[in-house]
Amino acid sequence: MSTFFEKAAALDKNDELAHFKNHFENDPEMIYLDGNSLGKLPLKTIETSANIVKNQWGKRLIRSWNENWMNLSSDIAKKIAQIVGAQPDEIFVGDTTSINLYKLLFASLSLQKEKTDIITDDLNFPSDLYIIQGLIEQQFKNHSLKILKSEQEVFMDTQKINAAINTNTALVTLSLVSYKSSFLYDMEAINKIVHKNKSLIIWDISHAAGATTIQLNKTNADMAVGCTYKYLNGGPGSPAFLYVRKDLQEKLNNPIWSWFAHQNPFDFNTNFVPDTGIQKFAISTPSILSLGAIVPGLDLLLEAGIENIQTKSNQQSAFLIALIQHYLVPLGFELVSPLNEKQRGSHISIKHPESYRINLAMINPVNKNEKLVIPDFRPPNFIRIGITPLYTSYLDLYEAVVRISEITKTKEYETFSTKRLKVT
Ligand SMILES: *Cc1c(COP(=O)(O)O)cnc(C)c1O
Repeated sequence: MSTFFEKAAALDKNDELAHFKNHFENDPEMIYLDGNSLGKLPLKTIETSANIVKNQWGKRLIRSWNENWMNLSSDIAKKIAQIVGAQPDEIFVGDTTSINLYKLLFASLSLQKEKTDIITDDLNFPSDLYIIQGLIEQQFKNHSLKILKSEQEVFMDTQKINAAINTNTALVTLSLVSYKSSFLYDMEAINKIVHKNKSLIIWDISHAAGATTIQLNKTNADMAVGCTYKYLNGGPGSPAFLYVRKDLQEKLNNPIWSWFAHQNPFDFNTNFVPDTGIQKFAISTPSILSLGAIVPGLDLLLEAGIENIQTKSNQQSAFLIALIQHYLVPLGFELVSPLNEKQRGSHISIKHPESYRINLAMINPVNKNEKLVIPDFRPPNFIRIGITPLYTSYLDLYEAVVRISEITKTKEYETFSTKRLKVT
């Protein structure tokens, strides 16, 4: 019997977070390693959502706005604030990550129009880059975007950011954890460099929130956006959040003047008067059904404690890296993610010339008795193995790596076409 197997079993036995697995919908025939893309369903969410639909909507109808719904967004903001190291009145929950980024980009570029450089990098999420490009084309025509080039789409040297920023830099925007390689920035160091140059920063923490310790306040971050359907387990397309540091809130203005950003929306005045505080970044009637579904996942994270989750993520990543080096590197795989845990989020990326078809074979085993393993694929040839400490076990990681090695050795992937599916 493999020593890795024994080690995995022992690590699971001593894992103080192991029981959280039972709070999620679980298929014993499947190993799910894609929680960094869509988190699992917390069992309690089924009950919570049914209650909102059947009772709050079904029976209480319009009365539910005052009874349960008007404070739902800010109640969730309080929970998210604890997860990302912010104050409750610095977080707004609603809309999507991309829309929230649009609002904050517009607001911060308008604040200091005399500066025209925007800096980001090629590790950032493509949607973020598109939004900046669109704003320059449509609104900030004198601005220019500089996309810094990473080392092999994996790593960025902080010195390179330092060298790129100058007094004409209006804004820096980066993903804290890169969706591709899992590279993690030193938030504090970058914030210092940005502020030394009197510039502003927007962090996209979508790929970090819920798996990595984030200290927005302690590191003096200006602004951030993030999503709730990855490590926060809020469900497909669940509402996102934004963060604006308290002292910046009065200086920044939501570009979309709408009634939920109004000081007194239910006075129905004909003129817009913006709300003060974080609520000024709202737009519309909150999406109650999907907001309600976020709560149980957040409660589980808070109960487990984000530091404990981070510790387990580091331990599981170290175990997974050892497995990859033992089983997969000899078969032609390359470990892509940084080896230093301080520079890594909660997924491990590997690559192989046949990554796309190996990923397909994992999800669609030819022999139906094989365990289903679900990671995901990102171009050009990355397989991402997501570690979600609340429900990933060490045995899951062991079995997944052994399965990848079997697929590669037997060339089971050759039964699949290289033609790409719409969602990979
Ligand atoms: C998942 C993710 C998003 C998602 O954006 P949506 O507007 O919610 O579709 C944005 N940024 C990053 C870094 C992500 O990982």
